[in-house]
Amino acid sequence: MSRILIVEDEERIASFVRKGLTAGGFTTTVVGTGAEAVDYTVTGGFDLVLLDLGLPDTDGFDVLRRIRKLGVDVPVVILTARDGVHDTVTGLEIGADDYVTKPFRFEELLARVRLRMRTERTADLTVLDAGGLSLDLRTRRVSVEGSTVDLTAREFALLELLMRHEGQVLSRQQVLSHVWGYDHDPGSNVVDVFVRALRRKVGAERIRTVRGMGYRLTG
Ligand code: CA
Repeated sequence: MSRILIVEDEERIASFVRKGLTAGGFTTTVVGTGAEAVDYTVTGGFDLVLLDLGLPDTDGFDVLRRIRKLGVDVPVVILTARDGVHDTVTGLEIGADDYVTKPFRFEELLARVRLRMRTERTADLTVLDAGGLSLDLRTRRVSVEGSTVDLTAREFALLELLMRHEGQVLSRQQVLSHVWGYDHDPGSNVVDVFVRALRRKVGAERIRTVRGMGYRLTG
């Protein structure tokens, strides 16, 4: 099980990232200060650290410098503001492995995490199988009863979420938050639109509507 340390002082973002990563099969720990970030990184045995730059007691650069100076070589992905090109360059120079620009969609973050994760994920975790569907997380290939289908990035993320929770009902809110991110409009019907598109590609009978509750992938 891969372990991720989330260093983020903004509760809304920390919670969004934690929920998504937990749903994705990762074990997560959240801290909100630079001091904790250094302590946990040095002693925690994490496989990856997500590091916000703006922290209440110090900044992420300082955290990064300190942990690298202590000889900790855990992969670090920094979370940076949209206009922070300079921040990005500085971060990479002082030892970050990658960065994600805020605001980000969960799928972007997940792609960075998978790319930079220290531990090789085993084969059985890179291919999801459910109900005649097969989804390869590494090659991004999806097949239905052995025939390849083309999905957009959002459709892929939606199908991945449903397959990871095969047989469970997922609310629109859960889907929206996971696939569209924390800046989504909660009144949007975008989930329904994408579910319809996905049904056309993978078979309508596979994605059930549970009235008043949400959607469920049937096995
Ligand atoms: Ca912050």
